Amino acid sequence: MLQVTDLHVTVEDKQILKGLTLTINAGEVHAIMGPNGAGKSTLSAVIAGKDGYEVTQGSITFEGKDVLEMEIEERAQAGLLLGFQYPVEIPGVKNIYLLKSALNAQRKARGEEDMPAPEFMKLVKEKLGSMKMDASFLQRAVNEGFSGGEKKRNEILQMLVLQPKLAMLDEIDSGLDIDAMKVVADGVNSLRAKERAILLVTHYQRLLDYIVPDKVHVLVDGRIVKTGDAELAKELEANGYEGIEESVA
Ligand code: ADP
Ligand code: MG
Ligand code: MG
Repeated sequence: MLQVTDLHVTVEDKQILKGLTLTINAGEVHAIMGPNGAGKSTLSAVIAGKDGYEVTQGSITFEGKDVLEMEIEERAQAGLLLGFQYPVEIPGVKNIYLLKSALNAQRKARGEEDMPAPEFMKLVKEKLGSMKMDASFLQRAVNEGFSGGEKKRNEILQMLVLQPKLAMLDEIDSGLDIDAMKVVADGVNSLRAKERAILLVTHYQRLLDYIVPDKVHVLVDGRIVKTGDAELAKELEANGYEGIEESVA
């Protein structure tokens, strides 16, 4: 589904990714772990098409298409979605409106009609329930005045409604208490499907007790230096990143 090959990326003339290669197949959950500043967020931002990143070498393809040729909206419509790809706060724009317009933009790109309003409401209410969110969320402006935990739930709600082919979630566990993290993890687990892939970016292993990845990649200094299964995350928890950084150096 996703093929990243020899990716080199600079931000403000500083080289952040230094030859990163990664393959993700449909149906798989991958975790990218690594020390602060390794380039984890940069990787998901570049795949999603955020501004400010310059790809100086390498390629990214999604279902065989050249992702680097696509605008950020085209990528989202193709089913490649980063949580919080939508602005962190949009004053005055109601959550429900954002969800509806994003969903219908996606359908339009596939040549489908808008989802009829009653069907849309049914879908959203079902997903709200599974995220243990109150219906009043829908009428609030996007993320305006949301707590950290509410933002994270809202991020998963977007994923549950939009059903991307590749869902990328960056530090979805940060700042969550254990109960909120379980709700978020349940939401992510309910996204698992054979036609979908999930990319989790996380500094800590904790989340991976609840969302068990098929593959774990360790990103250090702009490269993936080790790949393993869920056990690798546990080793990192026990030994930290230092051992790996030293063996790489
Ligand atoms: P991680 O998510 O692994 O903690 P990031 O991808 O956020 O790492 O950052 C990697 C490096 O790139 C860091 O050294 C960071 O300071 C730098 N960086 C990221 N974004 C920017 C930016 N917009 N401007 C300048 N430097 C940035
Ligand atoms: Mg960071
Ligand atoms: Mg980060």
